Amino acid sequence: MSLDHIRQRLQQAETAAGRPAGAVQLIAVSKVQPAARVAAVLEQGHRLFGENRVQEAQGRWPDFQAPFDGIALHLIGPLQTNKARAAVQMFDAIHTLDRPKLAQALARLAQERGACPDLFVQVNTGAEPQKAGVMPDAADDFIAQARAMDLPLVGLMCIPPVDADPAPHFALLAEVAARNGLAGLSMGMSGDFETAVALGATHVRVGSAIFGARDG
Ligand SMILES: *Cc1c(COP(=O)(O)O)cnc(C)c1O
Repeated sequence: MSLDHIRQRLQQAETAAGRPAGAVQLIAVSKVQPAARVAAVLEQGHRLFGENRVQEAQGRWPDFQAPFDGIALHLIGPLQTNKARAAVQMFDAIHTLDRPKLAQALARLAQERGACPDLFVQVNTGAEPQKAGVMPDAADDFIAQARAMDLPLVGLMCIPPVDADPAPHFALLAEVAARNGLAGLSMGMSGDFETAVALGATHVRVGSAIFGARDG
């Protein structure tokens, strides 16, 4: 269990980037992790977690929310429109808004409930055909469209291509966010969060480096 170690590295990265301590939120990505590991991180005082599936989150988090106060949950995986209602009930933020149909579904729910989780638009910075996210050259239009629906956009999110240097992808995301007046940047995972912090990340999503490997 190395939550402390990751917190330390995050703080060093903030300092190295000339950013104040606490400028970057650490999202502990608990997907697929055994409950005992999640409980251990909660017991160390951590409260911000990321899950990539609505159903998995629904299955496990109510049991933690009774004994532990102040838990915040962020959805970082793809969201099907038919799970949007469950997602807005469960999550404080959704990092994977990536298409008009989902934006419309969230806008309807926001109106109905009078509240909506914070939303990040996922950008497919590597323009990979199999990957979710709006293409970089379609991002400005999509952001404008979502804003016209009164959705609470707070930032952008990306997952760089697996074998690529992530830095240009983080820089591109920061550039698209800046020209659209969005402050949030959800970028950086276990292997590259320090690079992301140097390039302006406000939220890093760290799983295996905190909890250990997911597969065994
Ligand atoms: C699983 C996952 C992470 C965390 O990955 P690690 O390499 O374990 O830190 C971050 N972001 C997304 C979208 C994920 O699905």
